[in-house]
Amino acid sequence: MINPRKTLVVVAVSLLLIHLPALSAGPKGESRSGGEDWRTPAERSEYRTTPRYDETMAYLRRLAAASPRQLKLETFGVTGEGRDLYIAVASRDGAFEPVALHKARRPIVLIQNSIHAGEMDGKDSCLALLRDMVVTHEKASLLAKAVVVVIPIYNADGHERFGPHNRINQNGPQEAGWRTQSQNLNLNRDYMKADAPETRAFLKLWNRWLPDFFVDDHVTDGADFVYDTTYNLDTGPDVFPALAAWQRDVLAPLLERSVADAGHPIAPFIALKDDTDPSRGMVTWPSSPRYSTGYVILQNRPGLLVEMHMLKDYRSRVTGNYEVLRALLEVVNRDADALLAMNRDADEATVAAGRRHDPAARFPLRLEPDGATETFRFHGHSYRRTPSEISGALRIEYGNEPVLMDVQRPTSFKVAYAVAPPAAYIVPAQWTSVIEVLASHGLRLRRTSRAWSAEVETYRCDGVKWLDHPFEGRQVLFRPQEGPPGTEASRGACEPARETLSFPRGSAVIPLDQRAAKVAIHFLEPEGPDSAVAWGFFNAVFEQKEYGEAYVLEKLARDMLEKDTHLKEEFERKIAEERDFAASPAARLEFFYRRCPWWDSRMGLYPVGRLASLEGVPLAPAR
Ligand SMILES: [Zn+2]
Repeated sequence: MINPRKTLVVVAVSLLLIHLPALSAGPKGESRSGGEDWRTPAERSEYRTTPRYDETMAYLRRLAAASPRQLKLETFGVTGEGRDLYIAVASRDGAFEPVALHKARRPIVLIQNSIHAGEMDGKDSCLALLRDMVVTHEKASLLAKAVVVVIPIYNADGHERFGPHNRINQNGPQEAGWRTQSQNLNLNRDYMKADAPETRAFLKLWNRWLPDFFVDDHVTDGADFVYDTTYNLDTGPDVFPALAAWQRDVLAPLLERSVADAGHPIAPFIALKDDTDPSRGMVTWPSSPRYSTGYVILQNRPGLLVEMHMLKDYRSRVTGNYEVLRALLEVVNRDADALLAMNRDADEATVAAGRRHDPAARFPLRLEPDGATETFRFHGHSYRRTPSEISGALRIEYGNEPVLMDVQRPTSFKVAYAVAPPAAYIVPAQWTSVIEVLASHGLRLRRTSRAWSAEVETYRCDGVKWLDHPFEGRQVLFRPQEGPPGTEASRGACEPARETLSFPRGSAVIPLDQRAAKVAIHFLEPEGPDSAVAWGFFNAVFEQKEYGEAYVLEKLARDMLEKDTHLKEEFERKIAEERDFAASPAARLEFFYRRCPWWDSRMGLYPVGRLASLEGVPLAPAR
């Protein structure tokens, strides 16, 4: 809600400030260079507002015009509604080409903003950061080695669904954009399936730049606490060990110290075990590849998730976000050589593992907390829990008093489900949407030169179930609670099988001796949390397409029972033991249909093959 009287006063004061810019000197608000007023639109409004798409781009164009040798704007795609997607590239010496920058061993940091376009803190902090690096040069040292690529507004269509009621939990700015893009897809669930034009554009951008470090800026939902700045770095067993160790032991402590020294209370991402009782401690979950920072793990790159606290005022949030980015860039410049070496080693290890194809190797598809916890000194807010006559449940009411609580926080993950990767996958040519997604991830595909059939490893997925409502516009698989390795719950719906499969000419072969092999494994192993099977790309395979009429099956059943006494015993035992079966005429007839040659043997059979080698596969010459 906005108090109209208060608004009038604020407008009057801010008008005064525009005429007397010296009075508005904030930490970065004074920013004058060559007599021009370089305050960002958010600074100029005293952080009451965030600029629209056009105003944001106009400010960036002003920066680029003032410093064409250090800042360049480029488009990298078009949204569903036809808006251009922009990056702003900041480079000390006008080197703006990724290939040349890689060759010069300059770390490239990609900072993504506004994927959830109600969460604008990152965008407004990046406008200030770019200005301070290339116009006022207060922060020019952040470009000593690093090149900074900023996506100011990733979800540009969502950003222009602008209004005061888009973020119910959030304390300002007055108006902002909407969480999803124009097809109502959440882009931060789309990194693997790549349904949205924005995601396809991002993947192209990723492959053109192949950044050395990735940042995704957000604002929290969830609990109230003292920290204005929270973050996550993934350091689980799916991350290349040297990169995990550097993020955990070097980067995280440096970020925390540096941001805290700048006056912003900071903590690792906070998720409460019990929303109404912070004293019960924290929970954590792994970043699966549908999320931006989970996806970059598969690309062997470190990723920082920034989550500014929703209830802090907009000034604190934008300046806090600025300090995280500033601190990160200081570390990236300092550790540039080590970072590039770790990324290169991670890529080489992936390629080597694909080339070696050790059948004993295991690739982690799913992680879970390993049970280890540590005592975390949580800077929470005072609260009380009372019964609510509105919800009928316990409610939490937060107060404003800071309260220190020692709570338990999970520290680490273990592998919950792993697979032995093949040497290559083969996807039949007719599964065009699957092949398109693989190509959009920048994977190197080969094509078969003629039709080919062979006995290959694959899966039979007879136990699939679907979620009872759409998710991200798709009918996705239901996953039971995942259990420890080897247990029923961990196994899922698909069982390994050897089957003779047919692959028409033009089928796609994806060898795993390539840099982005982990993307292929995650997408093509059905048990992956974000696999093509899980997202419903193969749903038609699970549909029964021919049916036996009851009176036809009756006759069939009688013939079968007459010829096979074991079958008769099995049928009778099932009727005696399974009440649902006994009560279902359709199930009783299907019992026989499934056991006769007319049953569709391909139903539930995964059409993708796992190849132990490329020997004998008729491959068209690589282009
Ligand atoms: Zn978000």
